[in-house]
Amino acid sequence: MTLTADEVKQRARELGADAVGIASAAVLNAHPPDPKFPQTPERISPEIQSVIAIVKRIPAGAFRTKRLECVQYMDQLVLREMDKVCMRVAQFIEEEGGAYAFPLASQETKWEFKRASYGYLSGRHVAVEAGLGTLGLEVNFLSPEFGPRCYTTAVLTTAMLEPDQKLTRQVCIGEACSRCLHSCPANAVLQWGIDKRACSQFAQEFGYSVMLGQLQKFVQAADAETQVNILKTPSAYAVWQGLLRVVGAFGDCPRCLEVCPVGDDYVQWLADEHREIPEKTPEKVAIAKQMQVDRKAGKDLPGLSPWNIRWVGEEGYVPPRKRP
Ligand code: SF4
Ligand code: SF4
Repeated sequence: MTLTADEVKQRARELGADAVGIASAAVLNAHPPDPKFPQTPERISPEIQSVIAIVKRIPAGAFRTKRLECVQYMDQLVLREMDKVCMRVAQFIEEEGGAYAFPLASQETKWEFKRASYGYLSGRHVAVEAGLGTLGLEVNFLSPEFGPRCYTTAVLTTAMLEPDQKLTRQVCIGEACSRCLHSCPANAVLQWGIDKRACSQFAQEFGYSVMLGQLQKFVQAADAETQVNILKTPSAYAVWQGLLRVVGAFGDCPRCLEVCPVGDDYVQWLADEHREIPEKTPEKVAIAKQMQVDRKAGKDLPGLSPWNIRWVGEEGYVPPRKRP
């Protein structure tokens, strides 16, 4: 028996996906996000024909809490839930569809790919190819329903499923909005790009490089008493907590997610809390204005190169009142 794309998508929604779409493996193989580090289905398994993109929204309440740990904990719960949905979708395809399927190792990164900052596939790009949204100014994935407050992953399968059409209109408002740039504590938001190293100081506050720094201090300490004192610091405790529950090691900074006005959840739950952006400065406003000028002038921008524009949206942003 073979399954249709609609049957697979309906089952994925019943199993808990908040949005689901299908991308052709051939298209993903032909358009890796960065050809120098090809994150393609064929490198995982050359037999893959279709990739099912799964999106799970992060409950908006997480972005109203004053305690960062609560956002981080919520993130981890959503990620685990998302993996379970994928597992069940893969089982469904194998049991009912006569094809093999498996979930993407979505949180694993590969050391050879930009020192472990890239995974085997980019869930964000797969979701764009599957027609579920487009990338934002800060290259988060933005869905029309949830803005950037969602996570993406995928199921890979040998089943031939009808792919969805990629969106060509920007979901992100773009330079005229720039609220993610205004809110970013690391000044990491570029024009359709991100300074990952700067971002990681806030988004991975107690991640791998911080742990290495702690270890280095520990092994270089002059004596045993200094070593014990290093282990008794709040940051050593935070690293341990990160190892135990991932909290603090990943997805730490919520700022560009909670201020983004795209998504039905923003209007309903977040607008009153996040309308004002305390981190906004005249310097940041000037940077955003310059970005607008550069875009209007058609300046060469790496984030909008002929290769990258497919994930941003070739038509640009069209305000709701002007849409057909
Ligand atoms: S996660 Fe935080 S530090 Fe990173 S780009 Fe977003 S606002 Fe900036
Ligand atoms: S805050 Fe504005 S510019 Fe940034 S991703 Fe959201 S819509 Fe785009």
